Amino acid sequence: MTNDTTAQSAVKVRLYGLPNSAEAYEIRDFLNRSVVEFDWIELTNDQDCNRELGFSALSDLRLPMVEFPDGTQLFSPSIREIAQRLGWVTQPKFREYDLSIYGAGPAGLSAAVYAASEGLRTVLIERHAVGGQAGTSSLIENYMGFPKGIRGADLAERARQQAVKFGIELVLLREGIKAEFKDNRIKYLEENR
Ligand SMILES: Cc1cc2nc3c(=O)[nH]c(=O)nc-3n(C[C@H](O)[C@H](O)[C@H](O)COP(=O)(O)OP(=O)(O)OC[C@H]3O[C@@H](n4cnc5c(N)ncnc54)[C@H](O)[C@@H]3O)c2cc1C
Repeated sequence: MTNDTTAQSAVKVRLYGLPNSAEAYEIRDFLNRSVVEFDWIELTNDQDCNRELGFSALSDLRLPMVEFPDGTQLFSPSIREIAQRLGWVTQPKFREYDLSIYGAGPAGLSAAVYAASEGLRTVLIERHAVGGQAGTSSLIENYMGFPKGIRGADLAERARQQAVKFGIELVLLREGIKAEFKDNRIKYLEENR
């Protein structure tokens, strides 16, 4: 995922981890949903570890490890650290928006496309990954315009590109926790995830 409207990710990362690792699963899920191309390399023993990474023992490593195309390696990173490294963790640019949308599932993405295409200054805030539940679907067959079906993450990525093309601002890994109407304004409170 990039923050422009170009085709899907040019980023190719490598993820190393133990089979059945819950942490590695969470990272794979986030990368899949975000349409980031990556290789998943399972390390099962010291030989794998030595061959793939040059470390003599698995116990020398804090897994999972994510390696970026420029060679940077993050050991046992959080989702936020990975997103940060990919340049996706940003602050909202403005203090005020015409429309703030919380949740970048299909509903939020649709709202963002329509709002921004009508010229509203729109921010879309997502606490996890773009696509919501739909991002985990291997094949969505009942969405109009895709007679052969489409992978949920690909549908979400197309919607994200369309929304960004219309000028929305996408802010990831922030969660809306409170809103109040005051002085003819809606004020929102968020926290970083
Ligand atoms: C595996 C799977 C397969 C599916 N297949 C199909 C299918 O083939 N056809 C079909 O019609 N439907 C399918 N669905 C259902 C479909 O995905 C959902 O109906 C749809 O995603 C709902 O969209 P939504 O935007 O309303 O909510 P969600 O997809 O739930 O998105 C909500 C988003 O809001 C974010 N969020 C929530 N609270 C906050 C907050 N406070 N601050 C910031 N962000 C927040 C969440 O992280 C999430 O990304 C499937 C669902 C799953 C799980």
